[in-house]
Amino acid sequence: MDANEIAAALSEIATLLELRGENVFKINAHRKAARALETLTQPLDHLIADGSLARVDGIGKALLAKIETLHKANRLQELEDLRAQVPPGLLDMLRLPGIGPKKVKLIYEELAIESLAALKEACESGRIAVVKGFGAKTQTNILEGIAFLKEGEGRVHRPVALEAAGELIQLLRNIKGVERIEQAGSLRRARETVKDIDIVATLKSGVDPEDVMDAFVAHPKVVHVSGRGQTKASVVLEVADSGSMTGRSRLGADLRLVPPESFACALAYFTGSKEHNVRMRGLAIEHGYKLNEYALTGPKGPLDCPTEESIYRHLGLHWVPPELREMTGEIEAAKLEGGKGLPKLIPMGSLRGIFHNHTTASDGSATLEEMAIASRENGLEYFGVGDHSQSLGVANGLKPKRVREQWAEIDRLNETLSGIHILKGSEVDILEDGSLDYDDELLAGFDYVVASVHMHMNMPREEMTARICKALSHPAVTMLGHPTGRLLLRRNAYAVDLDKVLEAAAKHGVMIEINANPWRLDLDWVHVRRARDMGILLVINPDAHATTEVTNIRFGVEVARRGWCEAKDVFNTRGLDEVKSFLNSRKAMTR
Ligand SMILES: [Zn+2]
Ligand SMILES: [Zn+2]
Repeated sequence: MDANEIAAALSEIATLLELRGENVFKINAHRKAARALETLTQPLDHLIADGSLARVDGIGKALLAKIETLHKANRLQELEDLRAQVPPGLLDMLRLPGIGPKKVKLIYEELAIESLAALKEACESGRIAVVKGFGAKTQTNILEGIAFLKEGEGRVHRPVALEAAGELIQLLRNIKGVERIEQAGSLRRARETVKDIDIVATLKSGVDPEDVMDAFVAHPKVVHVSGRGQTKASVVLEVADSGSMTGRSRLGADLRLVPPESFACALAYFTGSKEHNVRMRGLAIEHGYKLNEYALTGPKGPLDCPTEESIYRHLGLHWVPPELREMTGEIEAAKLEGGKGLPKLIPMGSLRGIFHNHTTASDGSATLEEMAIASRENGLEYFGVGDHSQSLGVANGLKPKRVREQWAEIDRLNETLSGIHILKGSEVDILEDGSLDYDDELLAGFDYVVASVHMHMNMPREEMTARICKALSHPAVTMLGHPTGRLLLRRNAYAVDLDKVLEAAAKHGVMIEINANPWRLDLDWVHVRRARDMGILLVINPDAHATTEVTNIRFGVEVARRGWCEAKDVFNTRGLDEVKSFLNSRKAMTR
């Protein structure tokens, strides 16, 4: 097992212990070790080999032994015993937003409910509302939560699917005879969550497709082969997924082998979206052609389509980037004649710095210096720290005194570090009444302020909207952090009127964050586009809590692309000097 798989196993142990009502310290020790494994800066193999894993913060003696066993033997008796003792349905119930192990345990003990289906039934017949500590509101929340889970069923977060797809493609590339190979589907369109992996490939002539299919279905993560023929194989993969309660998820993967002359049409077809394809087929008919996954065919036979570009051109269009193929005006914009043009999408890798990140001063796992160096290693020019503010006790938010100490540390580091500049920021809590978590004098000392909601998330929609809008009207606020609080597949956005929030942001010149954490990707691409259309400046932040999370900015850039953003629409495509002078002039203006 690798570090992520072991982290998943330890998280599962923690959850199972919690469901059995065991010692809190023991539970927390497993969680802490799992987190430590997820954020290792060196390969696990090395750390085990030279004995230095024992010195990693958060890994005590007992945990060390478990990690080594899992690493070597891929199994742990303790975990298997626990799995046998706890009904698996209880883990499903834990996926409900706002329902923790204590509540699940209570439901199980009081009503002997051990599956989501039984829980749904109990809610519908009013049996949950009368359990001590529950009530009608919790019962409604559970029903809403079940509907939410139903919607996301079978989907995984983007990095999980990307990693699995990457492995499959690598495996197939290594087979002699595979010529062209690409991932298609929602993964290629950069959807936030993914249900299955689609791969399209061509073979060199004379190659036996059976050999390729054999290799595909024999991949170690394949747990089920649902179909297999000469040109198509479908499998189910089981992959490590720290976003799931069991630490593992299943997702489907399809491989399609197509003739070389069909490759572009197949790639376009299986990339989707369905709605985009329907429109493309309609356009083909208007031109007197027929379009399907094999070819674009005219009255005299198939047209030459070696690339996707050529298909679009035959239909009178510029090539549409996969991220835009959602039928939200891309076809009209792409018309060679009379179209208003597609955006020149923000290039991947074009960010020059970041603003919203955490260090060991609040709830991050790396020091300010380590985070700054990690940013430099990822090619960034500036690193903005945005540790939590004082009211967020659970995340070790900084009291004003510690803020000033951090500023002094930043000044020191900026004198010694080369190639990276640290900016003084803060992720300041938007308090329940919409005021900010520091006084104006302290706020004025930051280079910029990210304002975010972390507490009191269950407010009625109007109140939440007013609360955020009030915060945005504060002159110290530079950007709004994770605007809706959603956690993909895990927690819905809080109730808020986003259009009003965007109006307030536009009015006060506040930027809106695209939180690039792949478990959030908040703001969603639909509203990103709306914000862009309103002239609001966007900013992409990894919200990194570890050095390894700086690279998450790629997911934010993808969302920006799906939201039709160009480089100029995103603040952190600007260089350090421009950023500094922008922030300074904004501060001078509002003072
Ligand atoms: Zn936050
Ligand atoms: Zn944060």
